Amino acid sequence: MPDKDMKDHYDIIIIGGGLAGMSLACLLGRNDIKVCCVDSLDPQKTINETFDGRTTAISWASQKILSKAGVWDQLSSQACPINDIQILDGDSPVLLEFFSHEVDDRAFGWILENRLIRQALLNTIDQYENITLLAPTRIDDFVVYDDRAEAYTSDNRVLKAPLIIGADGKNSKTREWMDIPVRGWSYNQNALICTVAHENPHNNIAIEHFNPEGPFAVLPMTDETQNGKTIYRSSVVWTDHSNGNKSMMAWDDDTFKAGLNARFPAFYGEVKAITPRMSYPLGLKHAYSYIGPRMALVAEAAHAMHPIAGQGLNMGLRDIAVISDLIVGAHHAGDDLGHQDLLKKYQRKRRADNTAMMAATDTLNKLFGVKMPPVAMARKLGIKAISRFKPAKQLFMRQAMGAVGVLPSLIEK
Ligand SMILES: Cc1cc2nc3c(=O)[nH]c(=O)nc-3n(C[C@H](O)[C@H](O)[C@H](O)COP(=O)(O)OP(=O)(O)OC[C@H]3O[C@@H](n4cnc5c(N)ncnc54)[C@H](O)[C@@H]3O)c2cc1C
Repeated sequence: MPDKDMKDHYDIIIIGGGLAGMSLACLLGRNDIKVCCVDSLDPQKTINETFDGRTTAISWASQKILSKAGVWDQLSSQACPINDIQILDGDSPVLLEFFSHEVDDRAFGWILENRLIRQALLNTIDQYENITLLAPTRIDDFVVYDDRAEAYTSDNRVLKAPLIIGADGKNSKTREWMDIPVRGWSYNQNALICTVAHENPHNNIAIEHFNPEGPFAVLPMTDETQNGKTIYRSSVVWTDHSNGNKSMMAWDDDTFKAGLNARFPAFYGEVKAITPRMSYPLGLKHAYSYIGPRMALVAEAAHAMHPIAGQGLNMGLRDIAVISDLIVGAHHAGDDLGHQDLLKKYQRKRRADNTAMMAATDTLNKLFGVKMPPVAMARKLGIKAISRFKPAKQLFMRQAMGAVGVLPSLIEK
């Protein structure tokens, strides 16, 4: 007997419409897949600066993925290229400097405001009839049968598809419902973020200043014009132990301004915050498995890492590029989109890359958190050695661009 309500039958259901979930919906939708993406938050609230004032360092590989998802053209004029990365350690002057002209003359990446990426994704979703965004709606549970999975929404709908993808973030319920354990810990650190205006241009420089309590990062943003005056902007990610962060969040505006000016290199001129401060607790979480029967986890639902290298979303976008390639291939071949072979292939292709990046970010944070003089000295010597050994330096730079381990299909010269 035909199902009474075919409108709730999809090829893919995505639980979670954050940056990863919506990007995946766009990638699949542009390839004629019928997708339903469900998010518990009101989309109009999520494009507000007061919801997420963060920026994301988009790697060169992620830019390719966002192009394929049909959103890059909307974002390119607001994406600020990074042409120079300066690394500082404690009280030392610049220890290591990466220039994009040393590696293929391409930008290391671009800084984009999260709210703008969200808006572009929402615009693209709007253009495709085969992409449904149900929001604000929550998924309360799901059940897996031999031939399909069913997801139950907070407004009593039953969504059906051969495959459910959990893109519901680091506290993923999808992961919990599948009884998939995670390995992880808290760093007992928080990242304070805000946007600042400064007197002088940033010259497209990104700064990562490592301190024992956590890194202080300055990321270049596009200029804004207000009343005919150019406002030079950068984004700040200021990591501190949780108690230190609590104090900084409570500082009055003058104390905070003084704190910023003490940490910014002199060439920026006077610096002041132009958006409210927000604070994010930092931790590591890695799911023991990315897959289950008719279910796959992507992005932070599978792996959440320290933002020290600005790679969390970049790694999530690699997950969705891989899984969407596999799904589109199976769709064209008329195969079952939720088949275990497809899911195993996805897990095989993504686990090692994510594990390596999580280990690298964890080690970096621990290494730069050590104050003991012998360790600090070894760290400085190590950085100096990298800066003098061209192949090592180039490997670092390519990794920063996201050009290592990228899908060949994404590299369009
Ligand atoms: C300070 C900071 C700076 C960062 N900087 C960078 C950077 O420069 N570069 C980079 O690559 N990464 C960066 N990251 C990491 C990046 O922000 C995250 O990896 C990314 O936002 C995770 O996206 P996501 O879509 O996986 O998860 P989320 O953004 O958490 O989205 C999950 C979504 O799922 C929804 N949801 C949850 N449960 C349900 C349910 N039951 N039903 C329906 N919906 C549900 C939620 O409403 C949410 O919208 C940074 C992180 C931090 C904290």
